[in-house]
Amino acid sequence: MSILPIYEFPNQILRQKAKKVKRIDRYIERLIGDMIDTMTNAGGVGLAANQVGILRRVIVIRLSETEDAMVFINPEIIHREGERLVEEGCLSVPGYKGMIKRSIWVKAKGIDETWRVVRLRADGLLAQALEHEIDHLNGVLFLDHLKEHEQLIKLGAEDENELIGAAAGHA
Ligand code: ZN
Repeated sequence: MSILPIYEFPNQILRQKAKKVKRIDRYIERLIGDMIDTMTNAGGVGLAANQVGILRRVIVIRLSETEDAMVFINPEIIHREGERLVEEGCLSVPGYKGMIKRSIWVKAKGIDETWRVVRLRADGLLAQALEHEIDHLNGVLFLDHLKEHEQLIKLGAEDENELIGAAAGHA
């Protein structure tokens, strides 16, 4: 397996909708393996195929190093409940984080790497990761959920995190 380059904002591939996967062939198997390696190498919690330049509906999630990576093909959120404010970042928007609203819990379904249908109810980080990665497949970034640009924070080397909106002089 190999580590793939991660496309970064504002690359237009991040704004495109990924296409459904019709079956698992060697290409998709390879893509899944490469995506898991790429996510692990980057220290990310999740990765969507758009982020490695492939417009297919595949996401991988690994909540911690001690857990196995989860694979979801053609994933969908079928129900969302509640709202909570979370801190979020993205491997395609390096150096920034933002405070956005995500659901308290979600029901999702998808297909796993053995082409079995998976349905799950998720909360916490898993719910957030599912919403974030499925957004990617629809060309949506966490930046789109920021209510105002002041909620985007640049990660500084020191603890003096700089507010982008303020720095740019935006009202
Ligand atoms: Zn992301």
